[in-house]
Amino acid sequence: MTTPLTIGSLSAPPGTLVTGVVPVDVGPAILEVPVAIVHGSSPGPRVSVTAGIHGAEYVSIAALREVVLGLDPSAVTGSLIAVLTASPAAFAARTIYVNPLDGLNLNRQFPGDRNGSATQRLAHWLTTAVIAGSDAFVDMHCGDMNEALVPFTGIEETGDPSVDARSRELADAYGLRYLLIGPSPGTTTTAAAALGIPAVLAEVGGQGRWPREDVDLHAAGFRRVLRAAGLIDTAPAAPAHHTTVLPTEAWMRATTNGYWHPAIAVGDRVPAGRVVGEVQDAFGAVLERPAAPIDGVVIFLVSSLAMNAGDPLLALAG
Ligand SMILES: [Zn+2]
Repeated sequence: MTTPLTIGSLSAPPGTLVTGVVPVDVGPAILEVPVAIVHGSSPGPRVSVTAGIHGAEYVSIAALREVVLGLDPSAVTGSLIAVLTASPAAFAARTIYVNPLDGLNLNRQFPGDRNGSATQRLAHWLTTAVIAGSDAFVDMHCGDMNEALVPFTGIEETGDPSVDARSRELADAYGLRYLLIGPSPGTTTTAAAALGIPAVLAEVGGQGRWPREDVDLHAAGFRRVLRAAGLIDTAPAAPAHHTTVLPTEAWMRATTNGYWHPAIAVGDRVPAGRVVGEVQDAFGAVLERPAAPIDGVVIFLVSSLAMNAGDPLLALAG
């Protein structure tokens, strides 16, 4: 096996770790996407991974850089393609949710469109150049700049039992507190599922911070995935807790602009019908008092005082 592994302008011969900026033409701009290729010295599976699909999700970006740049290609079987910061314009602008080039949420635009707007073109490049052809795919996220969350993984059901079982193995290897199973239209993992590629979404941390304990938790989970996929031999021990599977998910969104005062905390288990907080006007009058639609755990909670109609307040999973 002497053929280099190539992503755009970047090429890695066997037994090397190559890093560089790959230009991606998305129409109004040419993005400079930082990529690392670890091409192992012996043949094996190919894993692809993205961080920073949302540009202000720093725990995922910090953890992926740390794991990938610390790998020794001579000890790697197979190969790893890592997009270290998948939405560079969003990272630079510190935007929440969206790509500033066109105001679209990248993780709602997969598999993308070669002839679409900037975000749709970026999704198309990630799908065709990074995800396609992989034996497994990992998408590393955390709560956005304005979100607190509990660590969780998410997988899709493709209808192919062997692919679904493999996705479950990847999630189990990550070893986070909760596992959500269900469809997520427009996301990376849906695009991977459509290609028959086992995939896992992993979420740790948030609120624009990247504390050491969160980076360590994300990095350790990703290393366990690389071991489960057969790329490396060693990884940190799994956490002592059991992963709880949460098959039903419900997002709650504001219906009005205002000031968000949650009455619950992230990680709380909330019964259906419980009032989860208030959106107030500038003078303290209550505009809405939303109630939980299902019994569930608060898996993420918007922590900013500012709230806009249509924006998420929180998500429950149960
Ligand atoms: Zn995200």
